[in-house]
Amino acid sequence: MLRVKVELDRSPLRYTFVSHRPDVNKPGIGAAGIGDPIVAMTDEHGWAAFAELPASTKGDFVVHAHNVAVRMLDGNNAGVSEVALRFRNKGDRARLNVSPKNEAQFPHYRVMDRCYEVYETVFQDIPPFNGKSRGPFPHGGGDRPAQWHRVNAKVDCRFPEVLVPGKLPWVQPQSVTSGVPLMHIKGPTQDRRLFGSGRTPATTLAHEYAHAIHFSLLPSMKRWELAAKYALWIGKELANGRSGTHRTDKKTSPLIAFIESIGIFSQRYWMYATEVRPDLTGSELRAAFVIDELSEQPSLARVLPGYAPIATLRKDGTIAPRLKGASTEGAVYGAIFLDFAHRTNLATAVNSYLRCQAFDAAGWKRHAGSVRKNRFNAEVEAVARTWRI
Ligand SMILES: [Zn+2]
Repeated sequence: MLRVKVELDRSPLRYTFVSHRPDVNKPGIGAAGIGDPIVAMTDEHGWAAFAELPASTKGDFVVHAHNVAVRMLDGNNAGVSEVALRFRNKGDRARLNVSPKNEAQFPHYRVMDRCYEVYETVFQDIPPFNGKSRGPFPHGGGDRPAQWHRVNAKVDCRFPEVLVPGKLPWVQPQSVTSGVPLMHIKGPTQDRRLFGSGRTPATTLAHEYAHAIHFSLLPSMKRWELAAKYALWIGKELANGRSGTHRTDKKTSPLIAFIESIGIFSQRYWMYATEVRPDLTGSELRAAFVIDELSEQPSLARVLPGYAPIATLRKDGTIAPRLKGASTEGAVYGAIFLDFAHRTNLATAVNSYLRCQAFDAAGWKRHAGSVRKNRFNAEVEAVARTWRI
């Protein structure tokens, strides 16, 4: 068996696909298409094992900008061109380091790795992701070989997106070419929230990857339907050069308010988990987040510029919303991810959002109120009354 270690600026690059192509120049192999690449996936420590290859093998390895979360495409190019780096003439236990010196490709790997971190921090610990077979795979298929994952990417990301005008990062529910959600991520000079800069925290991917996860769980027909509806709004946003993120307390439409609510949740939860309470994990972290968001002085107000408080929890246990209505992003976020989460728990709330296949709060209510033999019907009714959704 041959093993290589893959790193991103000397840190393990996890759950990333690596391929080895037999040396086509060797006699007996030839260049006639014999020898498809052998694909492996790195583990949590960055090691990729090629069970088929003897440890004495030397050759070229390709580290794909493709991990279990996302496949990176070159946003400068109109076609579907995958980003990858080739490491020549490497043998067993070689270290393949994607270094900042790879100026053209390094940021792609940073974006890819951050998408996985967002999945791990915000979603991995809650249903439907926390099942035994799911493991590190946001989109399932943990029992499938690495080769299968290589040809069945579940989320694509164009970066740096230069062909779509405007400064706005966004996610297309269904790409016309690949049929999967397609993230359009702007470069760091256009989007300071991508990697963070000065007092601006890195929130873009925490927000956008949540959209990608949500869309990827929808059946294909639902994604097409959503793509058609969503495109109208995104088109207007792009034309007006708006950033789409400072509208938590503004009225949009039931569709946009519902879609955006998971982006708001993911971005806030990410910041809370990484900046406010990095000491907590699991259900403790989730409970603390909800209570903090409902407090008189939410911690995130300190770390998120433009933060809009959503609601407060009164001493008698009832919730006083600052925003209302199914067309207001912050109200839908507050209703589902704070109020319903407080009445049940945050994992139940997130799961109900991801499973409902709805395009607005009304659809979510129908689903959330009826699951488990109407178990949460009273809670959903109370939430709907409180927030007028
Ligand atoms: Zn969004």
